[in-house]
Amino acid sequence: MLKTAEEILFKYFGYKKFRTNQEEIISSILDGRNLLGVIPTGSGKSICYQIPALLSPKLTIVISPLISLMKDQVDALKVSKIPAAFINSSLSKEEYIKTVRKLRTNQLKLLYIAPEKLLNAKFVHLLKSINISMIAVDEAHCISQWGHDFRKSYLEIPRFIEQLEQNIQITAFTATATPKVKEDIINLLDMRNPKVFVGGFDRKNLFFKVVKNEDPESFLVEYLDKHRGAPGVIYASTRKEVDNLFAYLRLKRFSVGKYHAGLSDEDRHNYQNKFINGDIRIMIATNAFGMGIDKSNVRFVIHRNIPKDIESYYQEAGRSGRDGGQAECILMFYPEDISTQEFFIDVNKDLSPELKKSKLSKLDKMVAYTEIKSCLREYTLKYFGDRRIKNYCGNCSNCIGLKDVKDNTIDAQKIISCIGRAKENIGVKMLIQILLGITNEKVQRKGLDKISTFGIFKDYNKKTLEELLNYLISEGYIDQTAGSYPVLKLNEKSYDVLKENIKVLRKTNEIVSFDYYENPIFEKLNAKRNQIAKKEGIAPYVLFSDVTLMELADKKPINRWEMLKIKGIGNQKFDNYGKEFLELLILEAGKKKRNKKEKVVSNEESLFLDKIKIFKDNLGIDVELEVLSQAIKEIFMKKK
Ligand code: ADP
Ligand code: MG
Ligand code: ZN
Repeated sequence: MLKTAEEILFKYFGYKKFRTNQEEIISSILDGRNLLGVIPTGSGKSICYQIPALLSPKLTIVISPLISLMKDQVDALKVSKIPAAFINSSLSKEEYIKTVRKLRTNQLKLLYIAPEKLLNAKFVHLLKSINISMIAVDEAHCISQWGHDFRKSYLEIPRFIEQLEQNIQITAFTATATPKVKEDIINLLDMRNPKVFVGGFDRKNLFFKVVKNEDPESFLVEYLDKHRGAPGVIYASTRKEVDNLFAYLRLKRFSVGKYHAGLSDEDRHNYQNKFINGDIRIMIATNAFGMGIDKSNVRFVIHRNIPKDIESYYQEAGRSGRDGGQAECILMFYPEDISTQEFFIDVNKDLSPELKKSKLSKLDKMVAYTEIKSCLREYTLKYFGDRRIKNYCGNCSNCIGLKDVKDNTIDAQKIISCIGRAKENIGVKMLIQILLGITNEKVQRKGLDKISTFGIFKDYNKKTLEELLNYLISEGYIDQTAGSYPVLKLNEKSYDVLKENIKVLRKTNEIVSFDYYENPIFEKLNAKRNQIAKKEGIAPYVLFSDVTLMELADKKPINRWEMLKIKGIGNQKFDNYGKEFLELLILEAGKKKRNKKEKVVSNEESLFLDKIKIFKDNLGIDVELEVLSQAIKEIFMKKK
C-alpha cells in the first residue's frame, strides 16, 4: 500500500520520497488507526492526510481554522488536478450550490470545512448521505484552551462527527502541543486507541541569529539591500514601531507592506494579499500577522524587538522556510525593549498575580536566549522538552565561527585564470565585467569578450563576486599595482592556487545566502510563475515552490524527462504547466548556444530534436540524430 502511496506522491506532488515523519504517519493511517501527529511547521502535514484521502474511494473531510489557509490548500490540490473543494463563509451562493452538487455526485476526494459550518443542520443532513472515510483535523491545538490559539468552534467537532452516524477514522495534526494540549485533543475528539506520533521540533533549514549593538535602521537597510528579491517578514512589538519602520523603509525604496490591529480591515487584507502574491516583498507587522499564512517562500523573519516568550518567537520565526529551502531567523536585541514587554504584562488586568509571575519568568527565558553563548537551537528545543540536539548545531550564530569556512578554491582558480588570459593588464572593474559576461566597447576593443573565461560567473551576484575578489587581494592571492590605474597581477600564491598546492578557505560570517533570487534565469522563471498564478487566481508558491524554481534555474532541464527529476514537478503539474517553463528554459539554452556562436536551433526545433533523441534511444537506432530527424521531417512533409 505504501508503494501505491509513493506513486501518488510522485504523480500528484512531484516528490520522489516521503519524509521520515510522513512515511510513519501515512502507513499508520492506512492501517486504519486514529492518529494524532505533532510535527513541526513545514514538515508536510497536509500530504499525510491528502494521500490516504486519494487512496480511499470515500470522501475525506478536512477541518481547518482559517479561510485563507483553506483556499491555499484547495488551490494547491486543484493545480495537481485533485478533486477538492471548500465550504466556508467566503463562498457565494452559486459556488456553494456547485460544491454541494459535486458532493452529491461523488466528485470530490477532499472537502475542507470551516469549524463554524459544522453544526449547520442541513449541511450535516447532506453529509450523512455521503460515504466518509476520514476526518482530518488540521491545527488541532485550536481545540484546547491550553493551546495558544483556542477556538471555541473547534469544540463542535465531536458533536459533528457523532451526528454523521458513520464509522469514521479520525486524524489530527498540529505543530505545537504541550502534553496537556495533546491530552485535550485526544479526549475532546474522542479518538479511540490513537497512535500518537511526535516528531522532533527541530527545523533544520532555519538559521538562528541574535544581533546586538547594531544601529537598527542601518542594519535593516543593509540586510534588505544585500538580500534583494528574497521575501521576508519584520516583526515589531508595537503598532507605532510598525508604522515608523514602514515609513522609513518605504522612503528607502523597499517594497514593503504593513499589518497591525490598528489598520482598517481593507488595508490589512490588501497588504496581506499583496505579500502572499509576491507583489510586496517585505511585510512589517505586529504579532497580529501570521496565523493562517501558509506562504512557503518566506526567506527571513527578523524581530526588531524581543517577543514575549520563546513559544511566540519560535512560532513567528518558524513562518520562514516552509518550503524546506534555506531561511534565516534574526532576533535584534536592545535592552530597552524588555520594558515594553514588561509593560504589556503589567497593564493586563485579566492576569492574576500568579499568571503575571509566570509570564515574567517566560520573558526572562526569552531574554536569556539573547545572552547565552551556547547553541541557540539547543536552548530553544530544550525549552520545548526536546533533547535530541546536543551542544552544537552548526547552524546558528553561536555555533558558526567554529567551523564556518567556505572552500572558494575553484572560484579563485577561475578568477586567477581570467586575469592570466587578460595578460595581467586589467583592473578590478573590468575583471568583474568580464567574469559576469558584460560587454562594452573597451572590452570588445581588447578582444576580452573572446577569452574562454568571459561570462564564467554569468549567474553570480555582482556583490558576492566583488567581495570574493577583494578577499583574494587582501589575502595576497592576487596582487594589485599602485598608482592611479591599478591593474591585477598574479604572484606565486596565485600559481599555487591554480596548481592546487594551496586551497582558498574563507571564513564567512554569512552562511545564509539567497543569491538565487538575483539569478537571471530564476528571475525569468519567477516572472513566468507570477504571470500564470495571476491568471489562475492562485498564490505563486502554490504553483511551484521557490525551491523548485531554484532547482530549475540550477539544473536547467530542457526536456520532459529531465524536468520530471526536479523536486515538486510530477506528471500532473508537468502536463498543466511544465511546458511553459520548459519552453522558457529551452529558449534560454538556445540563447546561450547563440552566444557561443554555435548552430542556432529554434524553440520548436529543439523540442522536436529532443523527442527524436528519445525515440532513437528507446529503439536503439544507430543513426546520427541529425540524419534521423531529417528523414522523419521528409516523411512528414510528404504526408502533408
Ligand atoms: P505543514 O502543514 O506541516 O506546515 P505543509 O503541508 O504546508 O507543511 O508542507 C510544507 C511544504 O513541504 C510544502 O511546500 C510541501 O509541498 C512540501 N513537502 C511535503 N512533503 C514533501 C516531500 N515528501 N518531499 C518534499 N517536499 C515536501
Ligand atoms: Mg499545515
Ligand atoms: Zn547552534
